[in-house]
Amino acid sequence: MKPINFKQELVAAFGQPISENPTQVMMEAAFRHHGLDWRYLTVEVAPEGLADAVAGARAMGFRGFNCTIPHKVAVIPHLDSLGESAALMGAVNCVVRRGDRMEGENTDGKGFVETLRRVRDPAGQTVMLLGAGGAARAIAVELALAGVRRFIVVNRSQTRRDDLASLLKGSVSERLGRQLDVSAWSWDADVRVPADTGIVVNATSIGLYPDVGARIPLDIRTLAAGMVVADVIPNPARTRLIEEAEGQGATVIDGLGMLVGQGRIGIEYWTGLSPDETVMRDALARVFA
Ligand code: NDP
Repeated sequence: MKPINFKQELVAAFGQPISENPTQVMMEAAFRHHGLDWRYLTVEVAPEGLADAVAGARAMGFRGFNCTIPHKVAVIPHLDSLGESAALMGAVNCVVRRGDRMEGENTDGKGFVETLRRVRDPAGQTVMLLGAGGAARAIAVELALAGVRRFIVVNRSQTRRDDLASLLKGSVSERLGRQLDVSAWSWDADVRVPADTGIVVNATSIGLYPDVGARIPLDIRTLAAGMVVADVIPNPARTRLIEEAEGQGATVIDGLGMLVGQGRIGIEYWTGLSPDETVMRDALARVFA
């Protein structure tokens, strides 16, 4: 006979603002689908409450939690250790309880690379990365670990562009034991994609709902059939870039793929079970619709 148990396993998202974060929908859809009596809580945590929130999660036996804006960097001093890519990029989006320890991982880039691998092996490729914020850093570090040869970082503000280029040329190249080829381009006019580029990634927030018609300053005619064009924007999944890149014959990856990919890896870390991505994607697509 199954022992009586009214206690669920708990995981969460900590952020501020958090009320519009839809992660719970896909995580709990996966828990239900796989018969796991787990709950994913969406919790508003202010910056001054972060230390208490992490202590509370420890005290209440949470199996882990996601951190989103503004906690991805600030959470680090409250954790016991960091996974390799989280340490390299200096940002954590997924905390995992392993025994008594709370360990920081970054699954944003991992979710992206796993989705990418289904259509293109990143090893040896040239990548044009549009944007240099948190999502771009996560993607860049993970792509470097996956063997990308050359990066062209295109970003509007020079500081963030140079920071990302330095990260790739410095500690990431050191970790790899080979010097990455990295160019940092300013972004004053429509950027042209060099013909030998294999992968183009929009990691800016251009095109995010409700600004759905926003145009990325990119010369679409320079996108070609042999390229993979990926967008991090999850809502809407079919962004203007995705539609225009498809029109040029490129292979496309939408932002829902990355979002579901990072969620799936989080569930794997927490539960040890590999959840069905279709269930998670369908649940999110229903919410976004
Ligand atoms: P950040 O604020 O850290 O970075 C935003 C980036 O977008 C910067 O590079 C910024 O450039 C650039 N940018 C914004 N507006 C413009 C503009 N009008 N013209 C040119 N560049 C612009 O945000 P994140 O990196 O955390 O998030 C970026 C996007 O990625 C968000 O839309 C988010 O929803 C999405 N995301 C998706 C995930 C997924 O799983 N699908 C996961 C994480 C994020 P500058 O430095 O010049 O300001």
